[in-house]
Amino acid sequence: MKDFTINHAISVELPSLFEGRHLINGNWCKSEPGDTFERRSPSHGHIVSRSSRGGEAEANAAILAARTAFDSGVWSRVSGKERSAVLLKVADLIEQNVDRIAMIETLESGKPISQSRGEIEGAADLWRYAASLARSVHGDSHNSLGAEIMGVVLKEPIGVVSIITPWNFPFWILSQKLPFALAAGCTVVVKPSEMTPSTTVMLGELLIEAGIPAGVCNIVLGFGVPVGSVMSSHAEVDMISFTGSTAVGKTISAAASDTLKKVALELGGKNPQVIFPDANLEAASDAVVFGVYFNVGQCCNSSSRIIVHEDIAEKFCDRVVALSQRVRFGDPLDETTQVGAIVTPEHNTKIDTYVKQAQSDGARIALGGERLSVNGLGDQFYQPTVITHVAPDMPIAKDEVFGPVLSVLTFKTLDEAIALTNDSSYGLSAGVWSENVHTCLEFARRAETGTVWTNTWMDGFPEVAFGGVKQSGQGREIGRYGFEEFFEVKSVVMRVGNTRTPWVSQD
Ligand code: NAD
Repeated sequence: MKDFTINHAISVELPSLFEGRHLINGNWCKSEPGDTFERRSPSHGHIVSRSSRGGEAEANAAILAARTAFDSGVWSRVSGKERSAVLLKVADLIEQNVDRIAMIETLESGKPISQSRGEIEGAADLWRYAASLARSVHGDSHNSLGAEIMGVVLKEPIGVVSIITPWNFPFWILSQKLPFALAAGCTVVVKPSEMTPSTTVMLGELLIEAGIPAGVCNIVLGFGVPVGSVMSSHAEVDMISFTGSTAVGKTISAAASDTLKKVALELGGKNPQVIFPDANLEAASDAVVFGVYFNVGQCCNSSSRIIVHEDIAEKFCDRVVALSQRVRFGDPLDETTQVGAIVTPEHNTKIDTYVKQAQSDGARIALGGERLSVNGLGDQFYQPTVITHVAPDMPIAKDEVFGPVLSVLTFKTLDEAIALTNDSSYGLSAGVWSENVHTCLEFARRAETGTVWTNTWMDGFPEVAFGGVKQSGQGREIGRYGFEEFFEVKSVVMRVGNTRTPWVSQD
């Protein structure tokens, strides 16, 4: 069998250059003439988009617009029914524009077109689910505090939310945040990654078409500094909802501390799948291959390490290697491609450095371990890579490599598997494969992660909360728990009649 399955370049008509502008207070606007940045396709090498490059002035103007809109009540005080109607309209419009959005998503990110389409269609469902939540906001009532007292606990939208997103699932991650914030009645300023700004702009166009009032959703294009840092420190911002690297998450948390903003963080991961000898090994090996190569491993949920029982380790790895060789790497515009390009040349070098370091640390390359060339597209790709004989203290076992690179560790006992799982500064997700329900339950209870999958990997639903513990983040996204993040709680305590006993003596 050949080493890898590669889809070389196909001929497809590419869309014309996308021009990105800011959306501030309902108006599309540019920065100073010439103040722009470009995104080059990681797979095709051409310039996909040219965006206005925002600075402090644009960030401040967007925050002011969001503050003014929030305080006016034009969105924060209308009924859940009215907010829901707009969100449902956005969901419909997303569905009508799937192909157009997916094409730009693929060209800016390098991911396969079929996966971009799936991401955009799935995002529409997030908007629908959030729309349903907009009509079910309620607090708490206390009718048993005594005859003279009644109390209610109200939910109120937290206010102006800064939403800062990464490049790897730009449309999906924005849709894990924005419709939920809007459903709660918040107003927002969004900053997409400078590497994938355009589909956020497209979503902004759909929001305007759906009738969102001016100033409720603002978009500023640009870089982490200065746009993201203004959005993280500005006194008129009440909350930051950030997804990205743990390093930037810490910077944002520090910037927010001066004004004690609420900070919700979705950060990196080093997610293991643990495989017991009694597992369905066919299903487990397929899930391992899916877990490590989906989005070229540039995925917070990448199962970049497996912890496999030593009795089956060799056979299981052989199976993973054989399956890896059948995964279709290559042209993201080919409908059959499963794995696309690496986001930047610098990141490709970083992946390769990790692999070479692992080799010199004593690990063995069972498959891959080099850059990958795709005819007609160049070499901003990386081979499917399986590394065995990995020790738990090697950087390849501990760090988020963010590439198509699998580290294999072994265990003897359940306790050892759980200890290896938890031996990480991250705590995003983990998986366990066993036909024994007691093994799965024990693992699920003791794994220090925000999500545990048993006999599956990366199944997700709008209803089910997602997020990390330890340095994978704080707060939750999606589901009712994710929705709750966008509220403040206010207690209103009321006397019935003139029943209050005076504090100062009346004598
Ligand atoms: P990144 O942290 O480099 O950038 C994310 C965003 O932060 C970008 O919009 C960037 O412009 C902005 N930014 C950079 N510096 C900033 C600053 N000083 N202040 C404010 N904003 C700033 O991350 P990335 O490379 O775009 O994405 C990859 C990372 O995201 C990985 O670590 C991945 O695990 C993580 N991620 C996590 C989840 C999750 O749900 N937990 C999902 C997707 C990605």
